[in-house]
Amino acid sequence: MDCRPGCGACCIAPSIASPLPGMPGGKPAGVPCAHLTPDYRCELFGRPERPAFCGGLRPSREMCGEDRQAALAWLAWLETTTHPAQQADQVPQKVRNSAMNSPDAGSA
Ligand code: SF4
Ligand code: SF4
Repeated sequence: MDCRPGCGACCIAPSIASPLPGMPGGKPAGVPCAHLTPDYRCELFGRPERPAFCGGLRPSREMCGEDRQAALAWLAWLETTTHPAQQADQVPQKVRNSAMNSPDAGSA
């Protein structure tokens, strides 16, 4: 499947451990990436500074779901599952806050 225009969920919900321009400590979970443009595209797309993590994420029915909210929820769940040290009840709240502060997203 293709990336859904106006989504950007995978640029918000997951954490990114590696540093990226403007985010030297990586990207925390639930925080929009500094390189997610207002129309939910990646301003680092095709550039070497784009983290390998991002290049490895491919649109899939499982991750992207039926809509942006489903993708945010699934990715937040994955984050808490793969990072058990995080407080599970905080990530969904962060994601909800991010979703409320942004229209719709897309990662490429
Ligand atoms: S979750 Fe990421 S890959 Fe999937 S539709 Fe949204 S922006 Fe595209
Ligand atoms: S794809 Fe681009 S905007 Fe999205 S998290 Fe990666 S660097 Fe940030």
